[in-house]
Amino acid sequence: MKKVVILKIEDYNREIIKDKIREALEKHFDISKLFNAADKIVLKPNLLMEAAPDEAITTHPLFIEAVGQIFKERGNAVLVADSPGGFVGNKDMDSIYEKTGIRGISQNNGFDLLYPTQSFIVDDMPICWWAHDCSKTDNGFKMINLAKLKTHDVMVLTLATKNLYGCISGLHKSYLHKIHPKTKDFTGIVLKLYEMVKPALNIVDGILALSGNGPAKRGRPRKLGLVILGDDALYTDYAISKMLGIKDKDNPLIKEAKIRGYLKEEELEVVSELDREIIKGFELPDPFIVNSIPAPLLNLLRPLIGFKPAIDLKKCRLCGKCVQVCPKRAISFNKTLRIDYKRCIMCMCCSEMCPHAAIDINTNLLIKVIKKIYKCFQ
Ligand code: SF4
Ligand code: SF4
Repeated sequence: MKKVVILKIEDYNREIIKDKIREALEKHFDISKLFNAADKIVLKPNLLMEAAPDEAITTHPLFIEAVGQIFKERGNAVLVADSPGGFVGNKDMDSIYEKTGIRGISQNNGFDLLYPTQSFIVDDMPICWWAHDCSKTDNGFKMINLAKLKTHDVMVLTLATKNLYGCISGLHKSYLHKIHPKTKDFTGIVLKLYEMVKPALNIVDGILALSGNGPAKRGRPRKLGLVILGDDALYTDYAISKMLGIKDKDNPLIKEAKIRGYLKEEELEVVSELDREIIKGFELPDPFIVNSIPAPLLNLLRPLIGFKPAIDLKKCRLCGKCVQVCPKRAISFNKTLRIDYKRCIMCMCCSEMCPHAAIDINTNLLIKVIKKIYKCFQ
């Protein structure tokens, strides 16, 4: 059985988070068997980009601090690591650690900050050295996956399993989008990583979640007041997807994991503090809403919908990040920015990495009407 525990934690009070997570670890996960005092604990948050904690794009620093302190007090060395989107050198990493509040909590608690300086090729994928160390069983590195509960334009949700994509070094993340343009195939890559880097524990920060058109600046922070723990990343995501009322067929990761035999309903055991099984009204991304129209109608409307990334030139500050991350080199700059839609594979990396929320999905009137109708039936 794979266990998932759902805790109600209303806000970022470090002591409450710490007490409740510690209690859950002792009661439900046999923490002494999972970790010993000699283990080096690598905390792997979601540090997608430079963003303030209240934007809900990155794992909250007080949440990371609470988990880190639990293990510090058990005598473990605690390290923090991620490989954010785009090409990130040490200087960019320093800036991300600063802006997301990670540097402050690390200095206060003696956590070591790691950098994606070196990688190892495993199964054609360059994995950051710290993730590679955690994937071995004999060197004392153990990963705790500290994901953020967020929506995602393409994957619907990004939780514990997708957070492992941040173990791939630098721009290779964009390259994988290029060679796997179909969501189904890209999901296969995420599942391959899940098999490769098995975190010892997964804890999802859903206290302040990101709803709407996540996973970055276009999403909307939404207070959920939840923390979700699981001994398996995929089953943790499965429980959250169910809790948000998403059907398995509508969640690309869950759908593909079931087809490939990674997930079995009867293997999931959920212990929840919630008084209801499903949380209603959590706003999901526009493509999810449109794709939930009955298939015959969707096929009729598809030519009129035409999702594509569109640049808002009033918001754009010409930083060049989208040009850098586009895996198909579909964005060019010649006096102004332009997207070549013949090349575009709709991976939405440009929108995800734009620091100024200047790239949106082109939402025409029809999509707006569909969203209004969808809300009426929720
Ligand atoms: S990333 Fe955003 S702000 Fe930067 S150039 Fe592209 S659209 Fe403009
Ligand atoms: S333009 Fe944006 S959505 Fe299209 S391929 Fe490039 S990064 Fe992906």
